[in-house]
Amino acid sequence: MLSNPTSDPIENQLREEALYKPYQSLNAYLKKKYGEKIYKIALDGGFTCPNRDGTCGTRGCIFCSAGGSGEFATAIRQNSSIDAQITQALARFGDKQTGQRFIAYFQAYTGTYAAPERLYALYHMALSHPKIVGISIATRPDCLPTSVLDVIKRCQTEFPDKFIWIELGLQSIHEKTALYIRRGYPLSCFEEALAALQAMSVPVIVHVILGLPGETQADMLATIDYLSHKNIFGIKLQLLHVLRGTDLAAEYERGFFSCLSKEAYIDLLCSCIDHLNPAIILHRVTGDGPKDLLIAPTWSLQKRNVLNSLHKALKAGGHYQGRDYIERKGIHDTGSVDTL
Ligand code: SF4
Repeated sequence: MLSNPTSDPIENQLREEALYKPYQSLNAYLKKKYGEKIYKIALDGGFTCPNRDGTCGTRGCIFCSAGGSGEFATAIRQNSSIDAQITQALARFGDKQTGQRFIAYFQAYTGTYAAPERLYALYHMALSHPKIVGISIATRPDCLPTSVLDVIKRCQTEFPDKFIWIELGLQSIHEKTALYIRRGYPLSCFEEALAALQAMSVPVIVHVILGLPGETQADMLATIDYLSHKNIFGIKLQLLHVLRGTDLAAEYERGFFSCLSKEAYIDLLCSCIDHLNPAIILHRVTGDGPKDLLIAPTWSLQKRNVLNSLHKALKAGGHYQGRDYIERKGIHDTGSVDTL
């Protein structure tokens, strides 16, 4: 219940959310910008990635399943065109009162890993759809050569009323972790890509995995502190999932590491939110692991329950985004983190 409801339903909704979410959620951001809930449609552009095609390796990142972190997209792929995938995805919303606009999310594998003319055709098709307000492309910083940046620039010019976001899978700033997960590029590569995208005014969302083997709470908070000083648009905090068929699953089964308990994860999330620059939009605070592939932690399948527990813990502990954020210009720009 709102104590002082206004006549503006969006404002009321945002205020109601703020009571439970003392952080900047993507939902709230989109509602404020578009006046309605905007859903993401996961697409598969038929890409592969350098960690799988032999360029950097063939076994992929240690945690990544055969679907290239895009199982929801892969499920509707069936070799169909982007246009057909959008139509198919919209049909799944049926008659639900969900609003009329969507974000096309190139989720599976590396969304910029193809010839520039093919990328242009894919992005152009998605951006041309009248119900699509923008596209979000998941990729790697080492897959953004000038030719790809030129495609993005061209799309920016041709669709000035729509947005193009880039999502970078950094996962951690630490060298030992990057080597262990077989990420395949150094932190300096991320910094260069980020600078190039920011020079083009492309909003960047960074993916971080919490609970990676060998990382302490201090390690994870160092990643959050570092990103808090990089002027990024958004961040996705994702709980480490152990998925069937991955090398991480073999490590887990031989007892090399254990997954975070729900309590430990909620506690960690509260600290991450405290440390996070209040200007950054939180695009995700859990994970969306495919149910049929998930080995651990199974408690994460109760997403609603996890979110409710988080919101209760935030409230009880007086946490809010930026509570422990300290503006330290320059300190996080270089040297304070290790590099590959
Ligand atoms: S996480 Fe991304 S870069 Fe790593 S193997 Fe999967 S698709 Fe490739």
